[in-house]
Amino acid sequence: MQGGVAIAGLSPIVVPIFISNIGCPHRCLFCDQRQFSDPVDPEDVSRIVLDFIASCDRPDKRRRLIAFYGGSFTGINPDLSEKYIVVAQRLLKQGVVHGIKASTRPDMVSGRILSRLKDAGFVELELGAQSMDDKVLDASGRGHGAEHVIRASGLVKASGMKLGIQIMPGLPGEDRESFRRTVDEVVRLNPDCARIYPTVVMRGTGLFKLYEKGGYEPLDIDEAVSRSLYAYIRLTQAGCRILRMGLPPSKGLRIEAGPYHESFGFLVKAKAYRIMTQRLMEHAGSNVQVLVHPKDVSELLGYRRNNIEELCFSYSFDEDLPRGYVQMKGATERGCIQLKDIIEYIL
Ligand code: SF4
Repeated sequence: MQGGVAIAGLSPIVVPIFISNIGCPHRCLFCDQRQFSDPVDPEDVSRIVLDFIASCDRPDKRRRLIAFYGGSFTGINPDLSEKYIVVAQRLLKQGVVHGIKASTRPDMVSGRILSRLKDAGFVELELGAQSMDDKVLDASGRGHGAEHVIRASGLVKASGMKLGIQIMPGLPGEDRESFRRTVDEVVRLNPDCARIYPTVVMRGTGLFKLYEKGGYEPLDIDEAVSRSLYAYIRLTQAGCRILRMGLPPSKGLRIEAGPYHESFGFLVKAKAYRIMTQRLMEHAGSNVQVLVHPKDVSELLGYRRNNIEELCFSYSFDEDLPRGYVQMKGATERGCIQLKDIIEYIL
């Protein structure tokens, strides 16, 4: 069954198959995917997928996907990519998974390749855009421009697959203005989903050498959180699902500098609640009692409770309040602040 089942309330199982840097024409300045994993051999894909799914809770009730990550899937030489496609297609036909996805470079996408992927059961392609500013792309050694991202996004959309976009706040040459423009452009691409990975300096990369020579200064964690929050709000308001913010923890990761935090996504959302609460307190006074949906309480309190300890507010929760809102207790709708209301206070 292509496209798969979606069962309310249960998250999909996404089995990552790392093809670390396979298909990449060169190494981008910041990248070393082999720190996450060695590339998986096509012969090992079935076993990895079956083991992964067997280790998950209620796999029979969840949508299950194979995801080829960490390289440029559409740039892999055809003999090897066919091996990956054939094994994934077999798992799809056997009903082990419901769909296949991959990530790739925007300059390695063509109608012909997309049609092969679509026929094989691919349901989504993520493009590593990273920035929509040609100067930033150039300084990051990407080897493509923003035009490639626009063209490739159109082709993915036209193919019927879902479009994912990855962006990296804090690349060399980026300032706030450049980042805001990147977000504007990405919103125009109308992606279905996105990932926001603030740039970190990994040992063994060109960016590490540049950093050592004093030619690159990473964002501090506050600025990375702010830029990510700006992108998070703009993109979610445009109907795009944010799949991840910040790099996932990984044993082999050798981060030398930059805004890495194991709970980066939480920091971003907690900052949103901090700003919303501050705005509410400015409007209604510091004695206000803040109401949120019960599932938003952790973000309201902040990382290690720093929001509540620094702003000193009392709170309670209300199941009828939508997610992403803060409200004054007893207030009408005018006493409510939601994510879109704080966009101008972030960057
Ligand atoms: S950033 Fe993407 S395209 Fe560049 S080397 Fe890494 S995996 Fe390849």
